[in-house]
This record gives sequence, structure tokens and C-alpha cells, in this order.
Amino acid sequence: MNARIGLGNDLHRLQAGDGLWLGGVLIPCPFSSVAHSDGDVLLHAVTDAILGALGRDDIGQLFPDTADENKGRASADFVKEAVRLMRKDGYRIGNLDAVIQLQAPKFSPHKKEVRENLAHLLGCYGKDVNIKAKTGEKLPPIGTSEAVAADVVVLLIPDASIQNGSDADESVRILP
Ligand SMILES: [Zn+2]
Repeated sequence: MNARIGLGNDLHRLQAGDGLWLGGVLIPCPFSSVAHSDGDVLLHAVTDAILGALGRDDIGQLFPDTADENKGRASADFVKEAVRLMRKDGYRIGNLDAVIQLQAPKFSPHKKEVRENLAHLLGCYGKDVNIKAKTGEKLPPIGTSEAVAADVVVLLIPDASIQNGSDADESVRILP
């Protein structure tokens, strides 16, 4: 098997609210994401990047925003399903690189926590997860805090410890 690369992108409108979910961490701020689920733009882009690398259906096909079961749902569930499929297909995370586009609040104080949480969800080391944030230079819609967006690229590599197609352990592996 060869390594596979995937790309994910997502954008959500912002509204007045009491916090923004980013990478499974609730960032305190006067905004929230407009969404059917918890609106975690980073986790949605991560999910789509993994699914894309696997050549599988995208997040909107797997988790329709018309389904009641997905209303207010924690986006970590979407990542966990993508990771389960990744392991089923015999892959693990090589590395992941993400760009968050957010005017405010500052992302840097939350970067370490988001990185560690994401690595935990993905079953990989923190060093294999990189996240950076850019403002929108005060230009709409990002820079006027009307929207938040994320781009993610991920490299999946064959995992020799997983037997492809077998009843491999599909639980998320937790590394130190
Ligand atoms: Zn989304």
C-alpha cells in the first residue's frame, strides 16, 4: 500500500454566542458557529481530509445536516468515525497540517490544548499535528468575524500493525 494524501476545507457563519468549538476545545468568546452540529470547523475539515485520503464519502454524506441524530452533535464523533474507517482500511496518521482562519479571539493561547486534543482524537503524537491560525486582515467575511474557516491536509501511511480488511481493533489508539 502507498501513502495517501487528503484535503479538507470548511467554513461556518458566526453569530453572537458564548463560545466557539475549535478542535474539540470550547474557545471562550462572544461568538458561536452557526451549524446543525456543534459547528467545529477544524474537526469538520479534519474529518473530510481523512475521508478524502481514503477515497470515501465526505462528511456531509456520512452525517447529513438534515438528520436529527446529528443535531447539536459533538464533532469529535465525526473524527472518531473517520479514524475508525482509516484504521479499517489499514492506515494511520503520518502527519496533519491545519490552517484556521479566524479574526478573533486570538488562537495562540489555545493552540497547545487544541493540538493535544486533536492528536488524542487521531491516535497520533502531538508532533505529527500542526495547527496555525491566520486572521482575515479585517476583510469580510473572516476579518469581520462573520465566518470562521479551516483548511487541513493530512498524510495517511500504511500501518503494518493493522491487518487490512480483518477484524482489526478499530478503537482509537491512545499514544503517550
Ligand atoms: Zn462544518
